[in-house]
Amino acid sequence: MALFLRVLALVLLGAAPLAAKGACTAIDYRALPLPAAPGDPARAALRLAYPDIAFSADGAQLSVGGGAPIPWDDGADLAPAERLERGSVRAQFHDPYPLAFDLAARSVPWNDPGRVRNDTFFRALWGATRDEVRAHLVAVADPPLGAPVTVTTRRNVACQLRAALAEAARAGPGTAEAFRAPGGGFNWRVIAGTDRLSAHSFGIAVDLDPATGPYWRWSGGRQGAAGGYDNRMPQDVVEAMERRGFIWGGKWHHFDAMHFEYRPELILHARLVAGRRP
Ligand SMILES: [Zn+2]
Repeated sequence: MALFLRVLALVLLGAAPLAAKGACTAIDYRALPLPAAPGDPARAALRLAYPDIAFSADGAQLSVGGGAPIPWDDGADLAPAERLERGSVRAQFHDPYPLAFDLAARSVPWNDPGRVRNDTFFRALWGATRDEVRAHLVAVADPPLGAPVTVTTRRNVACQLRAALAEAARAGPGTAEAFRAPGGGFNWRVIAGTDRLSAHSFGIAVDLDPATGPYWRWSGGRQGAAGGYDNRMPQDVVEAMERRGFIWGGKWHHFDAMHFEYRPELILHARLVAGRRP
């Protein structure tokens, strides 16, 4: 019994700092004030989303946290499939992310805003190796999640996710199905059918219940002609996640409607582009 009490005390003592860690300040990327004169929307979005990004004087390179320079744009005019394979940081903004809860944009073949991920850039942001990413992971188990998902604590990602979950929970029981059996978070792996690292490798992606969100490869879609799908992901879930910087794979032509991914720069870019329209 004494041992039991000692273990219980350790657990309780251990729980205190965890509870303190739970207090975090999340950003609403749909409401964050935008600069009055942003210049290039893509560069402005990156600087707002990740304040430790710096551009060289000529704008041809950027660095993350004072790290090695990364080319901004290799100038290549790539076909869509090649853009996915080896797109530059600039190419990540080729297709503006649609902010409306409307699946019209995804009917255009290859309109996949967020699927282009420059590997060098992602490793600089989140960790170059599996061990570097793993050093910053935490299991998030807040309601309405039916099981914990593991994400990175870097750049406040876990905090942003917890804020989105709290908002989805407040939205009511209609969101419950999406969270019932989440597909998972961190997983150092390549994307099915490719040799490119998935966003899950960096601890920035969360798959909700696969029953709610189909995936084009599992639904008989073909590359470049993924076809339609019956959406069951509630609007309240998508909007709560987007506010906290997570884009939704349900808006992609190559749909992955269980998939959310922390890309606040794409939310900000969409707002900056919309603000520029006459
Ligand atoms: Zn996913």
